[in-house]
Amino acid sequence: MNAKAEEPAPDPTAVVAIDGPSGAGKSTIAKAVAQQLGFQYLDTGAMYRAVTWHFLENRCSPDQLGTDRLAAEQTMRLGLASMELQLQVGGRVLVNGRDVTSHLRSQDVESRVSAVSALPFVRASMTQMQRAVAAAGPVVAEGRDMGSVVFPMARWKVYLTASAEERARRRKIDFDQRGRDVTYQQVLEEIVVRDRLDSTRQDAPLKQAHDAVLVDTTGLSTDAVVLCILQIVDRGGRPQRT
Ligand code: C5P
Repeated sequence: MNAKAEEPAPDPTAVVAIDGPSGAGKSTIAKAVAQQLGFQYLDTGAMYRAVTWHFLENRCSPDQLGTDRLAAEQTMRLGLASMELQLQVGGRVLVNGRDVTSHLRSQDVESRVSAVSALPFVRASMTQMQRAVAAAGPVVAEGRDMGSVVFPMARWKVYLTASAEERARRRKIDFDQRGRDVTYQQVLEEIVVRDRLDSTRQDAPLKQAHDAVLVDTTGLSTDAVVLCILQIVDRGGRPQRT
């Protein structure tokens, strides 16, 4: 008999699921919440971006293939099978051993990621990987379908949103800092298109899970939103009655 005390099994419901549209502040907020709670941070958007980058590199993104849907899917499936994705603790993303983090927000990736993430076989593969991460220990997972599809049993669910104009304003500041030359109008249009594609796709569309707490971040500071989510976690995921 083994006399050593057994390690407690990780709790697969120890997930803070944060969903919402592009530019709602999910990444900044989710990272800060994870740090405060001592949970791992899981950026699922980065995973879909990495697949998109890999498809582009291998000339098999949907727009690079012909109109024969079956043949195109077969090519993309092979592309996905040839990809080894690694998420490092500091947030760096490796594809087949190469650090691709700096490519994930390029215009090429940005404009195709919604089409790639709408592919059911891509979603199935990412979902499996996301669940494996959460099975290893507590996580703060951010994306579009965390509370609704990937972690329906998550103990805490938050849906973060903000007006499209506010989200475009924040994204523009972010792009300016990274030296990407775009106008506010272009950013706003990109956001509106991505919202539409993400929320109308058949498989796992962007939507608020029925049991998620809605947090509108318009006009709120990062600190205020982080505090609000930490309070939700403290209260066990239920909105506060006032
Ligand atoms: O969050 P981020 O903007 O990095 O996500 C990029 C894209 O990846 C989204 O617009 C969406 O198309 C896709 N995505 C998804 N499901 C997730 C996370 C991201 O479909 N859980």
